Amino acid sequence: MTAVKRKVTLIRGDGIGPEVADAVVSVLEAAGAPLEFEEAVVGRAAEESRGDPLPEDVIEAIRTNGVALKGPVGTPIGKGFQSVNVRLRQALALYANLRPVRSVPSVRTRFENVDLVIVRENTESLYSGLEHIVVPGVVESLKIITEVASTNIARFAFEYARKHGRKRVTAIHKANIMKLSDGLFLDCFRRVATEYPDVAADDRIVDAACMRLVMNPETFDVLLLENLYGDIVSDLAAGLVGGLGLVPGANLGKDAAVFEAVHGTAPDIAGQGRANPTALLMSAVLMLRHLGLDGYADQIETALFATFVEGIRTPDIGGNASTMEFARAVADRLAPGGVSEQPG
Ligand code: NAD
Repeated sequence: MTAVKRKVTLIRGDGIGPEVADAVVSVLEAAGAPLEFEEAVVGRAAEESRGDPLPEDVIEAIRTNGVALKGPVGTPIGKGFQSVNVRLRQALALYANLRPVRSVPSVRTRFENVDLVIVRENTESLYSGLEHIVVPGVVESLKIITEVASTNIARFAFEYARKHGRKRVTAIHKANIMKLSDGLFLDCFRRVATEYPDVAADDRIVDAACMRLVMNPETFDVLLLENLYGDIVSDLAAGLVGGLGLVPGANLGKDAAVFEAVHGTAPDIAGQGRANPTALLMSAVLMLRHLGLDGYADQIETALFATFVEGIRTPDIGGNASTMEFARAVADRLAPGGVSEQPG
């Protein structure tokens, strides 16, 4: 019997996005994952052709399909349109940004056995996009923190910890300085923590947490952060395990989910066929698990790790394989016969 295919919106994105997206799709196809991709264009190309970098019908298509796999999309710096990535998360209420950061077998870095999970609030804080000129030379950016969003993301972190056998959630904040905004975030965390006596809860000030992360990353388990700290700490954490080419992510809401790597468009290497597709491939693995296609997820993860163990890697982690050569190596190591399970 042929498995029913799940429709997935595919956004290939800008810069290295199309290169890594093509590589990932080739592995998913080689694994026989029952997915049907519907491509959508956003960003500068959509702005030029359709007058909006994030057309309403793209948002609607993701809402209908419930799932998207997305490459990075560039945002003009200091001018131009609002970030498509931020708009998409807000429009679809993708309130939780989940970023598992794990050492990759045989990829040597300064640390071994890093295994932590970043949970980032994805809709507010300084990313609310509310800033204005008070008088020439004075600009105000509004950091929005609400009880509802802070409570929702804290509950997500504890639920995730409980479901995945994680022992501790650490809230990271700057409530010593931003007593009202980060103070509210921390209060909500502490209130939610009382509902989860089986999961340890503590908190750290963001600057001290950063130092501790680069000295003793093994002392962290699940990290809970508001939007901006979550973004910055994600890149820092990626550095612990070999860089942005390796770390996946998921933007999760009640009605939709968008899977994308932590990294951006990497303009410095775009078009050279040397980008590491692992981060987007691992994002696709998270997507397969979200869809209940665990057998395909396991099969791809096993093939990916076997590829690393055999020393095949892209230049960012010391190898010389191109993006597509690496993807072909992963596809070649997929278990013969594929996956027999039907999608759940
Ligand atoms: P970046 O993540 O694109 O690149 C940072 C560094 O990491 C670069 O040296 C790059 O070569 C390297 N890198 C990133 N991904 C890699 C990969 N897969 N393989 C090998 N090396 C990789 O960050 P940036 O340069 O600050 O941002 C570039 C653009 O991306 C900006 O327009 C930014 O707004 C956008 N961006 C988009 C997203 C998203 O779509 N979710 C996320 C972050 C940044």
